Amino acid sequence: MVTPEGVREACVHVADGRIERVAAFDDVLAGRELVDAGDLVVLPGLVDTHVHVNEPGRTGWEGFASATRAAAAGGVTTILDMPLNSIPPTTTPEALRAKREAAEGSVHVDVGFWGGALPSNLGGLTELHAHGVFGFKAFLCPSGVDEFPSLDLEQLREAMAEIAAFDGLLIVHAESPEVLEGAASQPGDLRAYRTYLASRPDAAEERAVQQVVEASNATGCRVHILHVSSADAVGPLDGATAETCPHYLTFASEEIEDGRTEFKCAPPIRDAANRELLWDGLRRGAISAVVSDHSPCTPDLKAGSFSEAWGGIASLQLGLRAVWTGARTRGFGLEDLARWMSERPAAIVGLERKGAIAEGRDADLVLFDPGHTAGVDPAELHHRHPVTPYAGRRLDGRIAATYLRGMRIYADDGFPDEPAGRLLERGRA
Ligand SMILES: [Zn+2]
Repeated sequence: MVTPEGVREACVHVADGRIERVAAFDDVLAGRELVDAGDLVVLPGLVDTHVHVNEPGRTGWEGFASATRAAAAGGVTTILDMPLNSIPPTTTPEALRAKREAAEGSVHVDVGFWGGALPSNLGGLTELHAHGVFGFKAFLCPSGVDEFPSLDLEQLREAMAEIAAFDGLLIVHAESPEVLEGAASQPGDLRAYRTYLASRPDAAEERAVQQVVEASNATGCRVHILHVSSADAVGPLDGATAETCPHYLTFASEEIEDGRTEFKCAPPIRDAANRELLWDGLRRGAISAVVSDHSPCTPDLKAGSFSEAWGGIASLQLGLRAVWTGARTRGFGLEDLARWMSERPAAIVGLERKGAIAEGRDADLVLFDPGHTAGVDPAELHHRHPVTPYAGRRLDGRIAATYLRGMRIYADDGFPDEPAGRLLERGRA
């Protein structure tokens, strides 16, 4: 059992969905149902704070039922839904209500919601916060969808000043629009990955992180940097929390063949040397969380050149296995996995009942076989669409069963008929 005190043999006592006690291995209570995990490892359920569910409005890309089944099958027991790519985006109390209505009754894991900070809703963030969103997402560069415009630096500071007043959290897609515009003018073969990579250079991330950290220091607003892909962006973090994603820790740009747009995401997958520096950032704690940035679309939108195709990778079901595969070969252990993918994401967003196998927490548990290895068969994915850069890739680990608040929500025989997930609100989660 992977606990905050280390990996040990243990017996976890569960009542009313909560962990009563983490007891000695043979301290089994009489008269209770006993689940013997055998030789499997028990991990805390993963907390994936970066998921684009897209429902309502783009439910053809992904929806609450399919996304949360994929989550459960991947050992993820809590997701936080991003405010964009659904229509409407989650930028008003009415839009949040539409999200909740779409999700109600169909979620297999617990689901919370981010709000969005747009030029049009500045001044309204306080009210949206009061409705229970976990924080606010902003872009400095174009988001990819027209209905979610970016903030300029002045608007960023305005948002931060408003959010700081209620001690909220701003999460930022940090790529500098000026650096991106400068890089976009360079000619190249649009089918070649190197052309796409050159259009979103390291400097775009580094510059934007500097600007966000400066604004954070000036306003006192807590900030979290989303999906760091460039190791150059780690230097200026200066105490801001940051996440990276399984694809940045798994793939390398020099291995991506021309036309393989399933690898397209923003910021982009960079070279192998950069990948190793991201692992080093995790080792040092400069990057503290690993979350999926699950961002699917329909297969037709992934067609075409790198400039045309949708930028997003669907990996909610595969993150645990992908990160474990990379982690174990670099000398990391299961306790590192639990820290990056459960404990830290839960702590960053204030989910006090999630993130650890410890007394008083929700009994969100994953039975995991770390020694198992298998190729990824897209047919096994529960994402709405099986498009994935992981197809055929050998990944370690197998999720044998997943428990949410003590209820089994996934095993080899599938999912329960009644979805057991709840909708979470900040402060009441
Ligand atoms: Zn995202």
